[in-house]
Amino acid sequence: MNTPLTHSPLNCFPVKDDCLFVGGISLTELATRVGSTPFYAYDRRLISERIQQLRTHLPPGIHLHYALKANPMPALVGYLAPLVDGLDVASLGELRLALDSGMPPETISFAGPGKSDNELAASLAAGIIINMESEGEMERIARLAEKQGHRPKVAVRVNPNFELKTSGMKMAGGPKPFGIDAERVPPMLTQIGALDFDFYGFHIFSGSQNLRAEAIIEAQERTFKLALELARSAPGPVRLLNIGGGFGIPYFPGDKPLDLRPIANNLATSLPEVNKQLPEAEVIIELGRYLVGEAGIYVCEVIDRKISRGHVFLITNGGLHHHLAASGNFGQVIRKNYPVVVGNRIQGSARETVSVVGPLCTPLDTLADRMELACADVGDLVVVFQSGAYGRSASPLGFLSHPAPAEVLV
Ligand SMILES: *Cc1c(COP(=O)(O)O)cnc(C)c1O
Repeated sequence: MNTPLTHSPLNCFPVKDDCLFVGGISLTELATRVGSTPFYAYDRRLISERIQQLRTHLPPGIHLHYALKANPMPALVGYLAPLVDGLDVASLGELRLALDSGMPPETISFAGPGKSDNELAASLAAGIIINMESEGEMERIARLAEKQGHRPKVAVRVNPNFELKTSGMKMAGGPKPFGIDAERVPPMLTQIGALDFDFYGFHIFSGSQNLRAEAIIEAQERTFKLALELARSAPGPVRLLNIGGGFGIPYFPGDKPLDLRPIANNLATSLPEVNKQLPEAEVIIELGRYLVGEAGIYVCEVIDRKISRGHVFLITNGGLHHHLAASGNFGQVIRKNYPVVVGNRIQGSARETVSVVGPLCTPLDTLADRMELACADVGDLVVVFQSGAYGRSASPLGFLSHPAPAEVLV
């Protein structure tokens, strides 16, 4: 097999007659149904199973939120909303999507540095919780709230004095544009009290894409400790404690899936003390890619098969303009191949080492670099797994003016 992942995506998506099945439909049939390639397909069953797995392992006191930035497809958000306890948004567009899903406003929170006045005004009008990221933002909220006649529902996003170790993306510790430095939070809490805001609690997000349970446990422990300390200066009871997420998914050969059990066990040990000290606080874990990343594939079609000085290139109609992350240009330091197969001939009758490239006139447009795949020809369907998060919406769709890929939920 060309994907030496210990946890192969082929365990998630069944294969019949050498063809991949998505949501009970063969890939070739699905491609006909979608009507054009390339496309993204997301499998409802896999999303539900992932949430069920979290509910089974995590203590019942943990509230699960979905961070829309991982995948904002409206049908997917609508499907997920009733399965989770809240939604986290980071723009006006995401806020509208979250409200469209029918989620109650007090379960929606808005984080992000650089919220515009329009975004703050919309948040106040919608009655969602604003995770404040600076003193300046707090002052703008106060002005807008007075003008609009609303009492702002707020939480404080804290930039902790630690980071989530060995994370794909570090978003806390040291100087950061996200949140308010922990040491500045107590005086800010006094101001929040004086402004008579409706104070909900804290948001402490320390990193993303982590596959090491011990690192996540350590960050959660430090988060609880920090939150309990800060709570002493709070202008009212802490009703919300968002401890971030950071749960990663395996993308590359050698990546091992995150083991939830030690995280769940540790939370079961720590939660009673947190509940005792902050009896009104809902403890929230916010996840993006962990909920949807493995449930999605990107499918493109072979347009040409070309041999250059002995090396086979499969040239497809899909590429980095649709799937920046799989091309290795979305924050990766060293380019590695996402798991890729020829979806309509998984094993094939013969195999060869090829590079899968897109139609763009740049060497960056590579979906698979020297990978062993079934021998493929024009019209065959190349599948990139682990594409349910940070796919379409995280790609430069306008680059080279090709059509955007379709998206389906099956
Ligand atoms: C991006 C982000 C998330 C989601 O990250 P994943 O790695 O997709 O789980 C959650 N919370 C915040 C504050 C974020 O910025």
